[in-house]
Amino acid sequence: MIPVDLSKATTDRINLPLYDSGQIEVYVRRLDKIHPVISGNKWFKLKYHLEAFRKSNSRGILTYGGAWSNHVLATAYAGRLFEIPSAAVIRGERPAVYSETLKQAVNYGMELVFVSRKQFAEKTGINPVSEAGNHYDDYYVIPEGGGGEAGIRGAAEILDLPEMGSYTHIAAAVGTGTMMQGLINAATAQQELMGFTVLKGLEDLKETFHPGRPKFNLFTQYHFGGYAKHNPSLLKFMNEFYRQTGIPTDFVYTAKLFFAIHELISKNYFPVSSKILIVHSGGLQGNNSLMKGTLIF
Ligand SMILES: *Cc1c(COP(=O)(O)O)cnc(C)c1O
Repeated sequence: MIPVDLSKATTDRINLPLYDSGQIEVYVRRLDKIHPVISGNKWFKLKYHLEAFRKSNSRGILTYGGAWSNHVLATAYAGRLFEIPSAAVIRGERPAVYSETLKQAVNYGMELVFVSRKQFAEKTGINPVSEAGNHYDDYYVIPEGGGGEAGIRGAAEILDLPEMGSYTHIAAAVGTGTMMQGLINAATAQQELMGFTVLKGLEDLKETFHPGRPKFNLFTQYHFGGYAKHNPSLLKFMNEFYRQTGIPTDFVYTAKLFFAIHELISKNYFPVSSKILIVHSGGLQGNNSLMKGTLIF
């Protein structure tokens, strides 16, 4: 059983005057439409981890993330759906009021263990124990963001498209880089892969990728101040982009990606006749942390 509806992941051409003036074609792979909770790249990154879990003798699944993590929520949902006990180590002390993401994760039956940011950064040293005294030694560990070989393998399937070879550029947001590594592995030698980091200080991340066949560029100047940081111009862009295309974006990942692409187009980065595929990696639930009325969608 797969929980998502991949037939909803359309690839839509979008038409804007900016694209016409650059004489390029822009397509969006709408992974945001496959599921309201396990949206975007999260199912792709989870599927082979769940398969590995089933083959193991583990009692449950344990993962890591922040208070607004799309990955933590997707893991909780998968746990509920497949009746797998789930737990997550959350970055930062236990808040007085849970984020919407954490509330929902707990509703799906996930157990949460809060650790300090410092401790979280040294993940290997954590031996998580819940407030109820539960241990997770016999849980299958899914790395933060659904990373690792299993996550990369699943992410490569995002590009299982009949017309894949016709794109000159493939662009996506980069958090842990798991999805991007999968896309790189799936691309052809003629294509240019473009990753846009959404965290500050990831300039060295480029060295951790295995570039393989395609040309690969990492753009590190479009994070808007850091992870989940935003400013009025980004929010204005999101509303305007939605008005023009009907495509909702999230302020943590995909808004920064589309913003960056628009800026690169206006700087004539793309040669005439480029055909760009932008991966809309979902994550719209993160917008729940914005004040109501900020966005028109
Ligand atoms: C998790 C996520 C990403 C980042 O994926 P990585 O594999 O960690 O780089 C990108 N976009 C959205 C919407 C996400 O939720």
